[in-house]
Amino acid sequence: MYTIKEIFTTLQGEGTHAGRASVFCRFTGCNLWSGLEKDRLEAICQFCDTDFVGYDGIGGGKFNSASELANTINEKWALMNKSVSNKYVVFTGGEPLLQLDTSLINALKLYQFEIAIETNGTIIPPPGIDWICVSPKDGSKLLLLQGDEIKYVVPQKQFSLNKTDIVKRLKRFEQMNFKHFYLQAMDSVNLKENLSLAITICKERPIWRLSTQQHKSLNLP
Ligand code: SF4
Repeated sequence: MYTIKEIFTTLQGEGTHAGRASVFCRFTGCNLWSGLEKDRLEAICQFCDTDFVGYDGIGGGKFNSASELANTINEKWALMNKSVSNKYVVFTGGEPLLQLDTSLINALKLYQFEIAIETNGTIIPPPGIDWICVSPKDGSKLLLLQGDEIKYVVPQKQFSLNKTDIVKRLKRFEQMNFKHFYLQAMDSVNLKENLSLAITICKERPIWRLSTQQHKSLNLP
């Protein structure tokens, strides 16, 4: 059984695959926050701006089998275009690795999907995922120390109040086995200041590139 908040087609808005036609499949639930406002101040991750509670979004629901979910994802893709190549599905959440398993990966491979995940890095993924984006959260135990891209949001202010603290964390990430390193400004009332901080650090530590949330400026879902 898979519990899905929503499934929709869009262009990927962040990271190396920004601009790429994708099916987004958002799993319900996360291991770093319940998703309920009443629990936010006690949560490990307190800055989340995503609704991953329940299964009432567009295309959401409970899916009894991997083949049923894979078929639904494939239908969403086909509604967007008829291409049988470059099929791309992004699993997000919530935390996708609470539910994404080998059965679902295999079912999607039968439809020739490339499979991407956006994970907080606290769970080791099953094999067969084509693109792994890890977004570490301060205060959680990062277990996934390799992948395709790492995307760190700055500042995660309950723990990292200044640039020195942030750079200390970045130095640790820089030792890990990722192909691409991204800094993303925390989207909040302080976005301008956060962006300026991220740009300053990218200039000083050029292994890092600025990740912008293009889907927001383009008004994509
Ligand atoms: S880890 Fe990701 S999905 Fe979970 S609460 Fe934090 S930002 Fe939201």
